[in-house]
Amino acid sequence: MKIAVLPGDGIGTEIVAQALKVLEALAGDGLRLEIEQAPVGGAAYDAAGDPLPPATLKLARAADAILFGAVGGWQYDQLPRAKRPEQAILGLRKELGLFANLRPAKVFPELVEASTLRPEVVSGMDILILRELTGDIYFGQPRGMRRLDNGEREGFDTMRYSESEIRRIAHAGFRAAMKRAKKLCSVDKCNVLETSQLWREVVTEVAREYPSVELSHMYVDNAAMQLLRDPKQFDVIVTGNMFGDILSDEASMLTGSIGMLPSASLDANNKGLYEPIHGSAPDIAGKNLANPLATILSAAMMLRYSLNQDRAADRVEAAVARVLARGLRTADIHKPGMQQVGTAQMGDAVVAAL
Ligand code: NAD
Repeated sequence: MKIAVLPGDGIGTEIVAQALKVLEALAGDGLRLEIEQAPVGGAAYDAAGDPLPPATLKLARAADAILFGAVGGWQYDQLPRAKRPEQAILGLRKELGLFANLRPAKVFPELVEASTLRPEVVSGMDILILRELTGDIYFGQPRGMRRLDNGEREGFDTMRYSESEIRRIAHAGFRAAMKRAKKLCSVDKCNVLETSQLWREVVTEVAREYPSVELSHMYVDNAAMQLLRDPKQFDVIVTGNMFGDILSDEASMLTGSIGMLPSASLDANNKGLYEPIHGSAPDIAGKNLANPLATILSAAMMLRYSLNQDRAADRVEAAVARVLARGLRTADIHKPGMQQVGTAQMGDAVVAAL
Protein backbone atom coordinates (compact mmCIF):
# COMPACT_ATOMS: atom_id res chain seq x y z
CA MET A 1 0.00 0.00 0.00
CA LYS A 2 1.34 3.38 -1.02
CA ILE A 3 1.28 6.27 1.41
CA ALA A 4 2.08 9.84 0.35
CA VAL A 5 3.46 11.75 3.32
CA LEU A 6 3.16 15.55 3.19
CA PRO A 7 4.56 17.03 6.43
CA GLY A 8 4.14 20.72 5.48
CA ASP A 9 5.17 23.58 7.75
CA GLY A 10 5.76 24.54 11.37
CA ILE A 11 5.20 21.60 13.71
CA GLY A 12 4.09 19.54 10.67
CA THR A 13 7.48 17.93 10.20
CA GLU A 14 7.90 17.10 13.91
CA ILE A 15 4.50 15.50 14.40
CA VAL A 16 4.51 13.58 11.12
CA ALA A 17 7.93 12.13 12.05
CA GLN A 18 6.30 10.59 15.15
CA ALA A 19 3.42 9.08 13.14
CA LEU A 20 5.98 7.59 10.74
CA LYS A 21 7.78 5.94 13.68
CA VAL A 22 4.49 4.29 14.61
CA LEU A 23 3.80 3.11 11.04
CA GLU A 24 7.34 1.75 10.81
CA ALA A 25 6.83 -0.19 14.04
CA LEU A 26 3.70 -1.75 12.53
CA ALA A 27 5.66 -2.57 9.37
CA GLY A 28 7.89 -4.70 11.59
CA ASP A 29 4.74 -6.77 12.26
CA GLY A 30 4.11 -7.49 8.60
CA LEU A 31 2.15 -4.45 7.43
CA ARG A 32 3.64 -3.52 4.04
CA LEU A 33 3.64 0.22 3.44
CA GLU A 34 5.49 2.06 0.70
CA ILE A 35 6.08 5.56 2.05
CA GLU A 36 7.14 8.56 -0.02
CA GLN A 37 7.41 12.19 1.14
CA ALA A 38 6.88 15.45 -0.74
CA PRO A 39 6.80 19.14 0.21
CA VAL A 40 3.47 20.93 0.56
CA GLY A 41 2.30 24.38 1.70
CA GLY A 42 4.92 26.98 2.60
CA ALA A 43 7.73 24.42 2.34
CA ALA A 44 6.69 23.71 -1.26
CA TYR A 45 6.36 27.42 -2.01
CA ASP A 46 9.91 27.95 -0.76
CA ALA A 47 11.21 25.02 -2.82
CA ALA A 48 9.19 25.41 -6.01
CA GLY A 49 7.16 28.65 -5.85
CA ASP A 50 3.89 26.69 -5.57
CA PRO A 51 2.11 25.45 -2.38
CA LEU A 52 0.91 22.36 -4.29
CA PRO A 53 3.56 21.54 -6.92
CA PRO A 54 2.57 19.13 -9.74
CA ALA A 55 5.00 16.48 -8.40
CA THR A 56 3.31 16.56 -4.96
CA LEU A 57 -0.16 16.30 -6.51
CA LYS A 58 1.02 13.42 -8.71
CA LEU A 59 2.35 11.55 -5.66
CA ALA A 60 -0.94 12.17 -3.81
CA ARG A 61 -2.96 10.90 -6.78
CA ALA A 62 -0.91 7.71 -7.09
CA ALA A 63 -1.11 6.89 -3.35
CA ASP A 64 -3.73 4.80 -1.54
CA ALA A 65 -3.78 7.36 1.26
CA ILE A 66 -2.16 10.65 2.23
CA LEU A 67 -0.77 11.55 5.64
CA PHE A 68 -0.70 15.32 6.01
CA GLY A 69 0.90 17.40 8.77
CA ALA A 70 -0.12 21.07 8.73
CA VAL A 71 0.57 24.11 6.58
CA GLY A 72 0.91 27.85 7.13
CA GLY A 73 3.14 30.41 8.76
CA TRP A 74 3.34 34.15 9.30
CA GLN A 75 6.05 34.53 6.62
CA TYR A 76 3.49 33.52 3.96
CA ASP A 77 0.63 35.75 5.11
CA GLN A 78 1.39 38.53 2.62
CA LEU A 79 1.45 36.25 -0.45
CA PRO A 80 -1.35 36.48 -3.03
CA ARG A 81 -4.18 34.04 -2.13
CA ALA A 82 -3.26 31.50 -4.85
CA LYS A 83 0.26 31.12 -3.44
CA ARG A 84 -0.70 30.78 0.24
CA PRO A 85 0.06 27.47 1.96
CA GLU A 86 -3.61 26.85 2.85
CA GLN A 87 -4.44 26.65 -0.87
CA ALA A 88 -2.68 23.29 -0.93
CA ILE A 89 -5.38 21.66 1.22
CA LEU A 90 -8.19 23.15 -0.84
CA GLY A 91 -6.40 22.04 -4.03
CA LEU A 92 -5.92 18.47 -2.76
CA ARG A 93 -9.59 18.22 -1.68
CA LYS A 94 -10.75 19.44 -5.07
CA GLU A 95 -8.32 17.48 -7.25
CA LEU A 96 -8.84 14.23 -5.37
CA GLY A 97 -12.62 14.56 -4.95
CA LEU A 98 -12.42 14.36 -1.13
CA PHE A 99 -16.06 15.08 -0.30
CA ALA A 100 -16.48 13.39 3.10
CA ASN A 101 -14.81 14.91 6.14
CA LEU A 102 -14.65 12.63 9.19
CA ARG A 103 -13.93 14.18 12.56
CA PRO A 104 -13.99 11.98 15.64
CA ALA A 105 -14.44 13.68 18.98
CA LYS A 106 -13.41 11.18 21.60
CA VAL A 107 -12.65 11.83 25.23
CA PHE A 108 -9.85 9.71 26.67
CA PRO A 109 -10.68 8.94 30.33
CA GLU A 110 -7.35 10.45 31.45
CA LEU A 111 -8.13 13.80 29.76
CA VAL A 112 -11.72 14.16 30.88
CA GLU A 113 -10.83 17.19 33.02
CA ALA A 114 -9.68 19.12 29.89
CA SER A 115 -13.29 19.53 28.73
CA THR A 116 -15.29 22.63 29.55
CA LEU A 117 -18.24 20.35 30.35
CA ARG A 118 -18.65 18.39 33.58
CA PRO A 119 -16.75 15.06 33.60
CA GLU A 120 -19.93 12.98 33.96
CA VAL A 121 -21.35 14.58 30.78
CA VAL A 122 -18.33 13.89 28.54
CA SER A 123 -16.72 10.85 30.13
CA GLY A 124 -16.94 8.02 27.59
CA MET A 125 -17.98 10.33 24.75
CA ASP A 126 -16.96 8.95 21.34
CA ILE A 127 -18.60 10.72 18.40
CA LEU A 128 -17.74 10.71 14.72
CA ILE A 129 -18.99 13.69 12.69
CA LEU A 130 -19.21 13.26 8.94
CA ARG A 131 -19.40 16.55 7.14
CA GLU A 132 -20.03 16.91 3.40
CA LEU A 133 -17.15 18.99 2.12
CA THR A 134 -17.63 20.03 -1.48
CA GLY A 135 -21.24 21.27 -1.82
CA ASP A 136 -23.91 23.30 0.00
CA ILE A 137 -24.12 27.05 0.51
CA TYR A 138 -20.30 27.41 0.46
CA PHE A 139 -20.17 26.48 -3.23
CA GLY A 140 -23.75 27.02 -4.55
CA GLN A 141 -24.31 29.48 -7.37
CA PRO A 142 -25.52 32.15 -7.77
CA ARG A 143 -23.79 34.06 -5.00
CA GLY A 144 -22.65 37.60 -4.68
CA MET A 145 -23.44 41.12 -3.60
CA ARG A 146 -25.69 43.47 -5.51
CA ARG A 147 -27.26 46.86 -5.22
CA LEU A 148 -31.05 46.86 -4.90
CA ASP A 149 -33.37 49.34 -6.61
CA ASN A 150 -33.76 51.24 -3.35
CA GLY A 151 -29.96 51.75 -3.25
CA GLU A 152 -29.08 49.43 -0.36
CA ARG A 153 -26.70 46.50 -0.83
CA GLU A 154 -27.76 42.85 -0.55
CA GLY A 155 -25.58 39.76 -0.07
CA PHE A 156 -26.82 36.36 -1.25
CA ASP A 157 -25.69 32.72 -1.34
CA THR A 158 -27.40 29.61 -2.61
CA MET A 159 -27.89 26.46 -0.55
CA ARG A 160 -27.93 23.60 -3.02
CA TYR A 161 -27.51 19.81 -2.90
CA SER A 162 -28.09 17.36 -5.73
CA GLU A 163 -29.47 13.91 -5.04
CA SER A 164 -26.19 12.23 -6.02
CA GLU A 165 -24.18 14.46 -3.67
CA ILE A 166 -26.48 13.54 -0.77
CA ARG A 167 -26.47 9.87 -1.70
CA ARG A 168 -22.67 9.54 -1.66
CA ILE A 169 -22.21 11.27 1.71
CA ALA A 170 -25.09 9.19 3.13
CA HIS A 171 -23.32 6.01 1.98
CA ALA A 172 -20.10 7.25 3.60
CA GLY A 173 -22.08 7.86 6.82
CA PHE A 174 -23.60 4.38 6.84
CA ARG A 175 -20.25 2.75 6.03
CA ALA A 176 -18.63 4.62 8.92
CA ALA A 177 -21.48 3.60 11.25
CA MET A 178 -20.98 -0.04 10.20
CA LYS A 179 -17.39 0.19 11.53
CA ARG A 180 -18.65 1.56 14.86
CA ALA A 181 -21.76 1.21 17.04
CA LYS A 182 -24.13 1.13 14.01
CA LYS A 183 -26.05 4.27 14.97
CA LEU A 184 -26.34 7.12 12.47
CA CYS A 185 -27.97 10.48 13.15
CA SER A 186 -28.63 12.62 10.07
CA VAL A 187 -28.75 16.34 10.87
CA ASP A 188 -30.74 18.76 8.72
CA LYS A 189 -33.18 21.66 8.88
CA CYS A 190 -36.00 20.03 6.97
CA ASN A 191 -38.74 21.99 8.76
CA VAL A 192 -37.54 25.12 6.93
CA LEU A 193 -35.29 24.26 3.97
CA GLU A 194 -36.14 22.49 0.70
CA THR A 195 -32.51 21.35 0.42
CA SER A 196 -32.89 19.63 3.78
CA GLN A 197 -36.17 18.00 2.76
CA LEU A 198 -34.43 16.34 -0.18
CA TRP A 199 -31.51 15.49 2.14
CA ARG A 200 -33.84 13.65 4.55
CA GLU A 201 -35.64 11.78 1.75
CA VAL A 202 -32.41 10.57 0.14
CA VAL A 203 -30.76 9.56 3.44
CA THR A 204 -33.91 7.58 4.30
CA GLU A 205 -33.77 5.80 0.91
CA VAL A 206 -30.08 4.92 1.32
CA ALA A 207 -30.84 3.52 4.81
CA ARG A 208 -32.66 0.57 3.20
CA GLU A 209 -29.28 -0.74 2.02
CA TYR A 210 -27.97 -0.78 5.62
CA PRO A 211 -30.65 -2.58 7.65
CA SER A 212 -28.31 -3.18 10.58
CA VAL A 213 -27.72 0.56 11.11
CA GLU A 214 -30.20 2.44 13.29
CA LEU A 215 -30.97 5.77 11.54
CA SER A 216 -32.40 8.84 13.28
CA HIS A 217 -32.96 12.42 12.09
CA MET A 218 -32.42 15.63 14.05
CA TYR A 219 -32.81 19.34 13.30
CA VAL A 220 -29.51 21.18 13.42
CA ASP A 221 -30.55 23.60 16.18
CA ASN A 222 -31.54 20.68 18.37
CA ALA A 223 -28.31 18.83 17.49
CA ALA A 224 -26.24 21.83 18.63
CA MET A 225 -28.10 21.74 21.94
CA GLN A 226 -27.98 17.94 22.36
CA LEU A 227 -24.20 17.92 21.81
CA LEU A 228 -23.85 20.03 24.94
CA ARG A 229 -26.65 18.39 26.91
CA ASP A 230 -25.88 14.73 26.32
CA PRO A 231 -23.11 14.11 23.75
CA LYS A 232 -22.95 10.42 24.59
CA GLN A 233 -26.28 9.79 22.82
CA PHE A 234 -24.45 10.10 19.46
CA ASP A 235 -22.34 7.58 17.58
CA VAL A 236 -22.03 8.85 13.98
CA ILE A 237 -23.54 12.15 12.81
CA VAL A 238 -23.84 12.86 9.07
CA THR A 239 -24.63 16.35 7.84
CA GLY A 240 -24.09 18.98 5.14
CA ASN A 241 -21.16 21.30 4.72
CA MET A 242 -22.28 24.33 6.73
CA PHE A 243 -24.04 22.48 9.57
CA GLY A 244 -21.04 20.11 9.76
CA ASP A 245 -18.57 22.98 9.85
CA ILE A 246 -20.21 24.33 12.98
CA LEU A 247 -21.13 21.08 14.73
CA SER A 248 -17.73 19.46 14.21
CA ASP A 249 -15.96 22.39 15.86
CA GLU A 250 -18.46 22.32 18.70
CA ALA A 251 -18.00 18.57 19.21
CA SER A 252 -14.22 18.62 18.96
CA MET A 253 -13.96 21.36 21.56
CA LEU A 254 -15.99 19.26 24.02
CA THR A 255 -12.84 17.17 24.31
CA GLY A 256 -10.82 20.24 25.26
CA SER A 257 -7.52 19.32 23.62
CA ILE A 258 -6.73 20.41 20.07
CA GLY A 259 -3.50 18.39 20.00
CA MET A 260 -5.45 15.13 20.36
CA LEU A 261 -7.92 15.27 17.47
CA PRO A 262 -7.45 13.53 14.12
CA SER A 263 -9.46 13.90 10.91
CA ALA A 264 -9.94 12.29 7.52
CA SER A 265 -11.25 13.50 4.18
CA LEU A 266 -12.40 10.64 1.93
CA ASP A 267 -13.36 10.15 -1.70
CA ALA A 268 -16.00 7.75 -3.02
CA ASN A 269 -13.57 4.79 -2.83
CA ASN A 270 -12.38 5.50 0.72
CA LYS A 271 -9.08 6.90 -0.46
CA GLY A 272 -8.33 9.65 2.00
CA LEU A 273 -6.24 12.49 3.30
CA TYR A 274 -5.53 12.20 7.03
CA GLU A 275 -4.46 15.14 9.17
CA PRO A 276 -4.70 16.53 12.70
CA ILE A 277 -7.40 19.19 13.05
CA HIS A 278 -4.91 21.75 14.37
CA GLY A 279 -2.67 24.01 12.28
CA SER A 280 1.08 24.46 11.99
CA ALA A 281 1.42 26.13 15.45
CA PRO A 282 4.31 28.44 14.49
CA ASP A 283 4.54 29.61 18.12
CA ILE A 284 5.91 26.23 19.24
CA ALA A 285 7.49 24.93 16.01
CA GLY A 286 10.96 23.40 16.28
CA LYS A 287 10.86 23.31 20.09
CA ASN A 288 9.95 19.65 20.63
CA LEU A 289 6.76 20.88 22.38
CA ALA A 290 4.01 19.85 19.93
CA ASN A 291 1.63 17.04 20.84
CA PRO A 292 2.00 14.38 18.11
CA LEU A 293 -1.01 12.29 19.24
CA ALA A 294 -3.53 13.90 16.83
CA THR A 295 -1.25 12.94 13.95
CA ILE A 296 -0.63 9.45 15.30
CA LEU A 297 -4.40 9.01 15.68
CA SER A 298 -4.81 10.32 12.11
CA ALA A 299 -2.50 7.51 10.99
CA ALA A 300 -4.75 5.09 12.90
CA MET A 301 -7.76 6.45 11.01
CA MET A 302 -5.84 5.94 7.77
CA LEU A 303 -5.26 2.31 8.68
CA ARG A 304 -8.96 1.87 9.45
CA TYR A 305 -10.70 3.76 6.65
CA SER A 306 -8.38 3.65 3.62
CA LEU A 307 -6.22 0.59 4.24
CA ASN A 308 -8.82 -1.65 5.92
CA GLN A 309 -6.39 -2.56 8.68
CA ASP A 310 -8.82 -2.37 11.60
CA ARG A 311 -6.65 -4.47 13.90
CA ALA A 312 -3.60 -2.27 13.37
CA ALA A 313 -5.78 0.83 13.91
CA ASP A 314 -7.11 -0.65 17.18
CA ARG A 315 -3.55 -1.32 18.31
CA VAL A 316 -2.40 2.24 17.66
CA GLU A 317 -5.41 3.69 19.49
CA ALA A 318 -4.87 1.33 22.41
CA ALA A 319 -1.17 2.29 22.53
CA VAL A 320 -2.10 5.99 22.75
CA ALA A 321 -4.55 5.24 25.56
CA ARG A 322 -1.87 3.25 27.41
CA VAL A 323 0.68 6.06 27.16
CA LEU A 324 -1.88 8.52 28.59
CA ALA A 325 -2.79 6.06 31.34
CA ARG A 326 0.93 5.90 32.29
CA GLY A 327 0.78 9.65 32.93
CA LEU A 328 2.87 10.88 29.98
CA ARG A 329 1.79 14.32 28.73
CA THR A 330 3.04 16.90 26.27
CA ALA A 331 2.94 20.52 27.50
CA ASP A 332 -0.53 21.28 26.03
CA ILE A 333 -2.23 18.59 28.15
CA HIS A 334 0.17 18.58 31.09
CA LYS A 335 -1.04 18.77 34.69
CA PRO A 336 0.78 18.60 38.04
CA GLY A 337 1.64 15.04 38.96
CA MET A 338 2.00 13.92 35.35
CA GLN A 339 5.29 13.34 33.51
CA GLN A 340 5.92 16.03 30.90
CA VAL A 341 7.55 14.78 27.69
CA GLY A 342 8.52 16.31 24.35
CA THR A 343 7.20 15.53 20.88
CA ALA A 344 9.80 12.88 20.09
CA GLN A 345 9.56 11.19 23.51
CA MET A 346 5.77 10.93 23.11
CA GLY A 347 6.25 9.27 19.72
CA ASP A 348 8.79 6.85 21.22
CA ALA A 349 6.41 6.05 24.09
CA VAL A 350 3.59 5.13 21.67
CA VAL A 351 5.99 2.88 19.73
CA ALA A 352 7.07 1.23 22.98
CA ALA A 353 3.41 0.73 23.99
CA LEU A 354 2.70 -0.92 20.63
P1 NAD B 1 -3.02 26.31 15.30
O1 NAD B 1 -3.92 25.15 15.38
O2 NAD B 1 -1.77 26.15 14.51
O3 NAD B 1 -2.59 26.78 16.79
C1 NAD B 1 -3.53 27.22 17.75
C2 NAD B 1 -2.93 27.06 19.17
O4 NAD B 1 -2.93 25.67 19.51
C3 NAD B 1 -1.49 27.54 19.27
O5 NAD B 1 -1.27 28.11 20.53
C4 NAD B 1 -0.68 26.28 19.13
O6 NAD B 1 0.58 26.32 19.79
C5 NAD B 1 -1.60 25.24 19.77
N1 NAD B 1 -1.43 23.92 19.13
C6 NAD B 1 -1.85 23.55 17.90
N2 NAD B 1 -1.51 22.28 17.64
C7 NAD B 1 -0.85 21.85 18.73
C8 NAD B 1 -0.22 20.62 19.07
N3 NAD B 1 -0.19 19.57 18.23
N4 NAD B 1 0.38 20.51 20.27
C9 NAD B 1 0.37 21.54 21.14
N5 NAD B 1 -0.20 22.71 20.88
C10 NAD B 1 -0.79 22.88 19.69
O7 NAD B 1 -3.87 27.54 14.73
P2 NAD B 1 -3.42 29.03 14.35
O8 NAD B 1 -2.38 29.50 15.32
O9 NAD B 1 -4.68 29.76 14.19
O10 NAD B 1 -2.76 28.91 12.90
C11 NAD B 1 -1.36 28.77 12.66
C12 NAD B 1 -1.15 28.49 11.17
O11 NAD B 1 -1.71 27.23 10.83
C13 NAD B 1 -1.82 29.51 10.26
O12 NAD B 1 -0.94 29.78 9.20
C14 NAD B 1 -3.07 28.80 9.78
O13 NAD B 1 -3.51 29.24 8.53
C15 NAD B 1 -2.59 27.38 9.71
N6 NAD B 1 -3.64 26.34 9.81
C16 NAD B 1 -3.45 25.24 9.05
C17 NAD B 1 -4.34 24.17 9.14
C18 NAD B 1 -4.05 22.95 8.33
O14 NAD B 1 -2.93 22.77 7.88
N7 NAD B 1 -5.02 22.06 8.14
C19 NAD B 1 -5.44 24.26 9.99
C20 NAD B 1 -5.61 25.41 10.80
C21 NAD B 1 -4.68 26.44 10.70
